[in-house]
Amino acid sequence: MNDILPHYINGEFIQSNSPQHLEIHDPATQELLARVPMASDDEIERAVAGAAEAFTQWRKVPVPERARVMLRYQQLLKEHHDELARILAEDNGKTFEDAKGDVWRGIEVVEQACNVPSLLMGETVENVARDVDSYSITQPLGVCVGITPFNFPAMIPLWMFPLAIACGNTFVLKPSEQVPLTAMRLVELFEQAGCPPGVLQLVHGGKDTVDALINHPDTRAISFVGSVPVGEHIYRSASHALKRVQCMAGAKNHMVIMPDANKDVVINNLLGAAVGAAGQRCMAISVAVFVGEAINWVDELRDKLAGVRPGHWDDPEAGYGPLISRNAKQRVEALIASGVEDGATLLLDGRDCEVSGYPDGNWLGPTLFSNVSTDMRIYREEIFGPVLCCMQVANLDEALALVNSSPYGNGTSIFTASGAAARRYQSEVDVGQVGINIPIPVPLPFFSFTGWKKSFMGDLHAYGKQAVRFYTETKTVTARWPEDNASSHAPNMTIALK
Ligand code: NAD
Repeated sequence: MNDILPHYINGEFIQSNSPQHLEIHDPATQELLARVPMASDDEIERAVAGAAEAFTQWRKVPVPERARVMLRYQQLLKEHHDELARILAEDNGKTFEDAKGDVWRGIEVVEQACNVPSLLMGETVENVARDVDSYSITQPLGVCVGITPFNFPAMIPLWMFPLAIACGNTFVLKPSEQVPLTAMRLVELFEQAGCPPGVLQLVHGGKDTVDALINHPDTRAISFVGSVPVGEHIYRSASHALKRVQCMAGAKNHMVIMPDANKDVVINNLLGAAVGAAGQRCMAISVAVFVGEAINWVDELRDKLAGVRPGHWDDPEAGYGPLISRNAKQRVEALIASGVEDGATLLLDGRDCEVSGYPDGNWLGPTLFSNVSTDMRIYREEIFGPVLCCMQVANLDEALALVNSSPYGNGTSIFTASGAAARRYQSEVDVGQVGINIPIPVPLPFFSFTGWKKSFMGDLHAYGKQAVRFYTETKTVTARWPEDNASSHAPNMTIALK
């Protein structure tokens, strides 16, 4: 069996001619799942050239027809929902229930892409001068590129290509080389939905592939989701290459817990938000900020957290799955060790975690620190593991000062019974997505995913109306149609519209 994954170029799955491959392993067993080719220059050239050629026709396809492809696609995704979740769970390791959520939140974006005609509407003003009307039209850019991370193998590719393509663009997707299998099935189903060859291309690869796509003269816009250092590199290099670019990056998200909140609700919400998906979510809560006497709930939190155990994706009792790789596990363990060295109190230690029947999995148990301070690495760095840091502040002023001093601004939440406290928090916090008694406030796709500060680089965010603006440009037409065509005007020697 040839276990080297094909690229998808011009409507065909083609074997790569690249001599460079990366092995991908099941994170629960280390079984070899496939080998991922690093696209050669020639393959990248064919993918971009094919997308540029397809654009000349795709941009002319009537908007309702493009929307109908999305309608068929969302239906196919629903029919293959569990199959996709299974591929995703095997590849990424997350539990089946969590994998279904990953697929579903992507489907919601495709549903939104079905609404593209109204999202593309421009503006009109009649009679801006004598016999003159002005109106704006919204046009696609050309070849757009998407670079996606390992932690949401379905949702994040679906944040990007359906809306970009519905807007009339063509698209080159470079999925995470750690979890390429789900994206390949997404592409196959998109073809079944009626996408013509070349409109969506998929090439595998790593840094060199990404750099080649960014610097290719025929790519117009780059969407990236991933870590902060890579996002900064991509933002700088894509801007330097004069491309439109949006980078959704890493995070450190705080939950503020007021003493008037319901203790059980807080603890139950913290469990899933902190260690769900093994903490490998850009919107995971990694810092719990207890206000005043709410700190007394930490012992109960520790006891409940100790009852959450990782496991294989098809174990319905598992709270979450393994970390994505051995490297990721070692990195998180090193950060836990740094927390101990820096003087934080380790209330629950998830290292040396074993899962029966899976001795080789990248397991890490739930880990809880208290007495964490802002100078510690476990506070400053994104851990991306099932590790929660607890801090205490005296009041809401101090909570706001703490959260606002963080360089990250992806998400935050406040748990409280006070409308006044919640309202003040939503208004004064310098974070782009706020949950009120909701731990992970990922917006539905009629809004946009609005991370701030280091967690986002660019001007227009992922999905929703902002993404439509990102994937299009506005043309403004000023048109004169005089009733009396014969009437002659004197030359207009000014800029004024007469
Ligand atoms: P990553 O940055 O390592 O990789 C993301 C993508 O970038 C991959 O496709 C990879 O091939 C490519 N890449 C890696 N190194 C590169 C380089 N030097 N130059 C060019 N391209 C490169 O991220 P990851 O580990 O796959 O994903 C986890 C990260 O993603 C976390 O930091 C998480 O917070 C972040 N994330 C952010 C959001 C968000 O919306 N803000 C959502 C999900 C994940």
